Amino acid sequence: MRNAKIVCTLGPASSDPRTIRDLAEAGMAVARLNASHGCTDDRADLAENVRLVDEARAEPVAVMLDLQGPEVRTAPLPDGETVTLETGSRIRYVESEGATPEEIGLSLSIDGVSPGDRVLLSDGMIETTVVDVDGEGIVAAVDSGGELAGRQGVNVPGVDLDLEIVTEEDRAELEMAAEVGVDFVAASFVRDAEDVYEVSEVLEELDADIPIVSKIERAGAVENLDGIIEASYGIMVARGDLGVECPMEDVPMIQKRIVRRCRNAGVPVITATEMLDSMVEARRPTRAEASDVANAVLDGTDAVMLSAETAVGDHPVAVVEAMDRIVRQVEGSEEYAGALERWVPEAGEARTDALARAGRYLARDVEADAVVAATESGYTALKTAKYRPTVPVVASTPTQDVRRKLALSWGVTPLYASVSDQGADAVIEKAVQSALDAGVADSGDTVVVLCGMMTDLEGANTTNMLKVHVAADTMATGRVVVEGRAVGPVVNAPDGDLTDAPEGAVVSLGPEFDAQFRGDLGKIAAIVDTRRGMTGYPALVAREMDVPMISDADVSDLEGGVVVTVDAERGVVYAGDIEDRRTRG
Ligand code: PEP
Repeated sequence: MRNAKIVCTLGPASSDPRTIRDLAEAGMAVARLNASHGCTDDRADLAENVRLVDEARAEPVAVMLDLQGPEVRTAPLPDGETVTLETGSRIRYVESEGATPEEIGLSLSIDGVSPGDRVLLSDGMIETTVVDVDGEGIVAAVDSGGELAGRQGVNVPGVDLDLEIVTEEDRAELEMAAEVGVDFVAASFVRDAEDVYEVSEVLEELDADIPIVSKIERAGAVENLDGIIEASYGIMVARGDLGVECPMEDVPMIQKRIVRRCRNAGVPVITATEMLDSMVEARRPTRAEASDVANAVLDGTDAVMLSAETAVGDHPVAVVEAMDRIVRQVEGSEEYAGALERWVPEAGEARTDALARAGRYLARDVEADAVVAATESGYTALKTAKYRPTVPVVASTPTQDVRRKLALSWGVTPLYASVSDQGADAVIEKAVQSALDAGVADSGDTVVVLCGMMTDLEGANTTNMLKVHVAADTMATGRVVVEGRAVGPVVNAPDGDLTDAPEGAVVSLGPEFDAQFRGDLGKIAAIVDTRRGMTGYPALVAREMDVPMISDADVSDLEGGVVVTVDAERGVVYAGDIEDRRTRG
């Protein structure tokens, strides 16, 4: 189990179904489709491909569509061609196609600039300063020149260009997102909460309930962080643009502050960009990159993101494997264990918060193996993750959308379980069974269950329920012949011979059994009979010896010696020793 999730940007190196499947196997939890490149139709196909991979897995792979937003780019150039911008020369920015050493076409107008403003190209590699704004464009001096390729990012730090937050291109992308049903929309270049609400409004108009992950990549967004966190489902620390819009040396502390505030607010946060950048070509990351990933994990980020590494890199799957190894190594350290104890915010007055926080400490104190959150909207699971439990969190939900949405959240393994309307106990049993089926919990494990189901269950309001529970994997169910409970090793006795049976045996009788017991009958702790019947020979023995018995329950396939719990009150045979954990303490 890994707490920090991995987000992978898909691109030419990773868009075929096989690679997507391999990325998922290697640890990808969210596939990011970057709308700054390629075309909308291809992205729709890609989203479908990811969905097919997701459908074949218990653990989800979600799709995040990353909008281009009001991002200004230079005009496209033929592949491999560049334009040389000489230091000391003068250039003119115009809103058009094409670029020459004198005139650079831009995708959007930057008319909002004034003389003295800096205009940076290609992630800040080329620096220019505005000297004049006339009716025909913007004249700028090239302070630090270089080779300019096509479609390079343009940043104007500290200047509000007053561009629409949702561009025409974004609208087309959002329509596609609504149609395909992506799991997250990442909003680029938001300045404040109002911008986030504008993106929400467009989604609402499209009747699409898609959570928004706001990218913090502008100095203004850093100033308005609290409002943006409140307005968003999640946050991305988009260090690429952030490091151009803000002084590069400010980025590390901004990153740490954003992660801390999101963690305290229980809002999923992604740390993004250049995390293992050298692996675009190299087979191994640099030590500095490994430390960068480790530090983000040690700060408690919900997810770490790969960009070019998986989109256009030479070894997309190997990069995810490397990231997975680094994260696991950090999460196994004593430093991380210490950090977990410090990452427990106050609960405030909200009831679910208080229960989730209590559940976190309860799991630690009863030495639980997992926290199981039965969640309908995902709310209970998000709250559970907020308090960073020290054991794995299983979120069991009857909604596939919620299952995928929780893929981004720290420590949560989201699993599907159909809803039960048969009361609180049935909801809990189903939630725990999904954890058992997926191998996240074992029969006999102690789990802390948080129930956040909103469905009106007959006679039981399960909202806000916290319980210590023993996970029990059902092997068989049948009819109670003699009531009682017993735990013991299974003994198959086709001919009734109990000579070699151990003390406390759970005697399993197959459909062919037609004999009498031989040997010491005192060794029998319980009988499980495949055949139906309350009055046959085995039933007579069970009554005579007063040992629990269930009929019409088949455990004859189990190997001799396997320990089971016979609950002849409910008529269920469970794997493992459930009694011991249930009665302890
Ligand atoms: C970034 O700037 O770091 C980022 C993630 O956004 P994009 O890749 O869209 O530039």
